[in-house]
Amino acid sequence: MEWNDRPAPGPDRPLRRCRRRTALAQAGATIGDLDHETQAFGLAVPMGVVSQTGITGLTLGGGLGRLRRRYGLSSDNLLHADVVTADGRLVTAGPEDHADLLWALRGGGGNFGVVTSLTYRAHPIGPEVFFAVVLHPLSDASGALRFFRQWQATAPEEVSAIGVLWHAPSVDEIPAEYHGSPVALYLAMHCGSPADGESPASSATCRTRRWTSSPASTTRPRRPRARSTSGSSEEP
Ligand SMILES: Cc1cc2nc3c(=O)[nH]c(=O)nc-3n(C[C@H](O)[C@H](O)[C@H](O)COP(=O)(O)OP(=O)(O)OC[C@H]3O[C@@H](n4cnc5c(N)ncnc54)[C@H](O)[C@@H]3O)c2cc1C
Repeated sequence: MEWNDRPAPGPDRPLRRCRRRTALAQAGATIGDLDHETQAFGLAVPMGVVSQTGITGLTLGGGLGRLRRRYGLSSDNLLHADVVTADGRLVTAGPEDHADLLWALRGGGGNFGVVTSLTYRAHPIGPEVFFAVVLHPLSDASGALRFFRQWQATAPEEVSAIGVLWHAPSVDEIPAEYHGSPVALYLAMHCGSPADGESPASSATCRTRRWTSSPASTTRPRRPRARSTSGSSEEP
């Protein structure tokens, strides 16, 4: 993995530091590898939610994660890719050269050659972000998911959330009596400042409390390190 954060060259701006905010990663990297390097600079590339996932298959297939509503899919943030084509040539696909190949790679999967490295646009994220978890018993799932859909339609674009039907994992944030039980869950992350994130997350949890008198648990919103834009293998 290499980091490209040098001032842009040019005699017209000798004193102005212009950060290009791009990250170059080799194709075998995982999301966790990329997060680890970019967070050292207070930046993140939109990726998926499980840190052990490989970045290349994910990017070539699109790549949905916790930054998607604000910054798009992983493939939207792919600027260049080094590719070995079927006839054995190594080419760099980007806006200047092989632009059609870059277009095809952004969602076209592994059909166009073997990708050896990828350059992404990175964004200022963290180091802390606001993350909320809301849990309902499965018997309330219909109304809970209906509420979730309405709340999502008005939430700011910094909020990316998922609603899932799942068996509650055995983690400290969830009451022990629900461990292993079927539940409806929302997981929501706000990628702006934690203070800005508190408001939409609170509105989700408070309105949910009003909507149903007996949610199994409305966990306190927490503030993980921004590295959890990818999350852990515990998450759905
Ligand atoms: C636990 C888990 C969580 C996931 N979470 C998310 C998520 O949050 N968001 C999301 O969008 N997706 C998610 N996915 C799906 C994930 O995006 C795909 O499984 C993706 O293919 C993983 O990338 P990989 O490089 O590990 O793939 P691999 O299994 O190694 O490859 C899959 C396909 O990608 C292509 N490919 C891989 N490497 C190259 C290369 N170097 N050159 C050319 N083609 C290549 C090939 O077509 C290959 O068949 C998840 C998957 C798992 C297993």
